[in-house]
Amino acid sequence: MIIRKLSIALVAGIFMAGTAQAAPASAAGYPIRNTAALTRSPLYVSGRLPVSDCPERPVTPGSAASAKRYVMPIFTCLNESWAAQLKKARIPFSKPRLQFISKPQRVCGQKWPSHAQGIYCPSDRRIVVLLDKHLTQQAEELFLLDLIAHEYGHHVQNITGIERGFNRLPRRSKTESNEQLRRLELQAECFAGAFIGSVWDSLDRTADDWDFLLEATRESGDENSKVRDHGKGRNIANWLNRGFKAAGPSGCNTWIAGSTMVASSPQG
Ligand SMILES: [Zn+2]
Repeated sequence: MIIRKLSIALVAGIFMAGTAQAAPASAAGYPIRNTAALTRSPLYVSGRLPVSDCPERPVTPGSAASAKRYVMPIFTCLNESWAAQLKKARIPFSKPRLQFISKPQRVCGQKWPSHAQGIYCPSDRRIVVLLDKHLTQQAEELFLLDLIAHEYGHHVQNITGIERGFNRLPRRSKTESNEQLRRLELQAECFAGAFIGSVWDSLDRTADDWDFLLEATRESGDENSKVRDHGKGRNIANWLNRGFKAAGPSGCNTWIAGSTMVASSPQG
């Protein structure tokens, strides 16, 4: 089964910033080695996320109101879990804002990207979820949980300084910026897996449900579209599962991973 890509980052202005500035003397290099904010965040050694209860509410396929009632308690769990995790890492925490929209509209001063179901706006720390038919009709799967946990992962990147480190990386070509963007996206997906792993025992789910999410993720990668900024489906599923198994951010250092682990296609 092929699903549409469920999430996408919107990092306003990064390409403009990258091309408008003179390239710094030292190149970023791949994997990234010289940006401590990315490669040595205290988050990676903050241990597992606290195990917590976050039962899913039933959702009625096709009902946006019911999907909202499903998301809200999960959003509360995400706030509590990541607040505790950042405290362990001694990083100040703040909650993001959460907004639901029913059809694509401009957010963060930009047009809604086609095929995106969720967006995180770093500038005003806001998660925007597009609760359209495509999403609500599949709401009983783990997609919605993965989506909100992924967008929250971008918020974690923002408040931990990872996003700032990312924005400051030199980027001199589309290929280079795409690889950096994939490292950012795959990390958000890994953080999503970490959160889901930390609440898994409280969900009324089976191993088959998890495998189904992984399988759907494998089929939703860059190979199904023209973009090269999220990664090959197999890689997205791999990082999601790494986070899930670790149930914490320790396995989510995408910045130091070899290029094949963050590849978009055999061509890169
Ligand atoms: Zn994303």
